Amino acid sequence: MTLPPEPARLITLLEQAGFSVYVVGGCVRDSLLGKQPEDWDLCTAATPQQASEILHSAGITVHETGLQHGTITAVIDGKAYEITSFRCDGAYTDHRRPDSVQFTQNLHEDLARRDFTINAMAFHPQTGLVDPFGGQADLQAGVIRCVGEPAQRFAEDALRILRALRFAATLGFAIEENTAQAAYHAREYLLHIAHERVQVELTKLLCGSHAHEILLAHREIIFAVLPELAPLNGFDQHTPWHCYDVYEHSCVAVQHVPPTPALRWAALLHDIGKPACFFMRDGTGHAHGHPAVSVQLTLQVCERLKFSRKLTQQVHTLVEHHELRLLEDDVAPARLRRLLGKHGGNLLLQLLQLNRADVCAQHPDKLYRLENFEPIQQAIEQLIAEQSCVTRAQLAVNGNDLMALGLRDKQLGQALDELLHQVIEGKLPNEREYLLTHIQQSRSD
Ligand code: ATP
Ligand code: MG
Repeated sequence: MTLPPEPARLITLLEQAGFSVYVVGGCVRDSLLGKQPEDWDLCTAATPQQASEILHSAGITVHETGLQHGTITAVIDGKAYEITSFRCDGAYTDHRRPDSVQFTQNLHEDLARRDFTINAMAFHPQTGLVDPFGGQADLQAGVIRCVGEPAQRFAEDALRILRALRFAATLGFAIEENTAQAAYHAREYLLHIAHERVQVELTKLLCGSHAHEILLAHREIIFAVLPELAPLNGFDQHTPWHCYDVYEHSCVAVQHVPPTPALRWAALLHDIGKPACFFMRDGTGHAHGHPAVSVQLTLQVCERLKFSRKLTQQVHTLVEHHELRLLEDDVAPARLRRLLGKHGGNLLLQLLQLNRADVCAQHPDKLYRLENFEPIQQAIEQLIAEQSCVTRAQLAVNGNDLMALGLRDKQLGQALDELLHQVIEGKLPNEREYLLTHIQQSRSD
């Protein structure tokens, strides 16, 4: 394992001052997995004040971000490095944070308070790996295992339950049996966790390459934080279109959209309104109007879990329009242009991805519709690339041109709409001469 120069420098500085110091946690795990770590975190026997003074006098910017939990942040070339003093945690009474922390000189005590064996390893460039709980073996075996007694560790801090699921989903690991059992039994403690934290972990989980396996295998835990999903579980749709219940269908859809937060959340929530809209007619199930109910429930989730405004808006729009059925049959070019004008290129391509995932998660007999995916994607990309006229602003004439023809007020907007309609339908080329002639002719009719 080779450290980049910045954490190596931090280690040298603290060590020269007489304190033991290591890189620790996620960066050790990711390096051992052969991945480039995003952040390098350090742990040290120095107290936060000591570490702060040492680095400060070496000319490094230090922010005393989490002093009471023993963390400071050093900034080198605009990048932040968290340095946490070795600590052991006092009692936990709120299922999230220790009531007190105690600094210690002992690295092993610090590693023992960490959540999973794969996250409880430290590394020093000269002395190598410190791995008292078998983290490296669990990494090789692909196992998420609590450090210590799982039931106690989850009762102390219930966020660890979601972190276990998140690491399993992103790394493709199994959750060790005792750890999984304890997570299941401790799930109600998740109600004590701040909604933002729940959201962050769920979003990372959903973007994991093994998200759908985890959503299915640990559904009771998911329902503890997303109770809106519980009615989908086991809900039979009574239609030849579907071979899964609504919850399974949603999880399979998650797996088939690209791993961006908006698409993954939209795939999970798109049918959340189905049970409320469901009725049987002639032996077949229907759920007309469910996107509107899905939107209401989606907004409830977004608000409770404190999604950013941008993410809320993206998920909202995707859920609202998830029934475009772009793959159903030949989509007329005019319809694509109209949709492009309405939603914009980015969103329309995302809606197409969601449509594709929806089909992937339906009955295998219906998969033939996927053949339409590539041609439609290409058609949309081409319309975007050639800047095809799909909005009033893209017309080759503007309001001034029409005023010169004597149009006023409401007539102006109506005329522009009419021209856009003609262009989108392919009945007029988007060229000034043709557009002006068309308006003059219709005025003289
Ligand atoms: P990533 O940053 O890739 O999401 P990470 O493992 O670095 O993963 P962080 O949240 O940055 O996760 O935490 C850094 C380290 O702190 C972890 O590797 C783990 O050792 C410890 N840790 C984080 N959260 C907890 C927790 N809730 N309980 C116990 N230890 C934790
Ligand atoms: Mg980290």
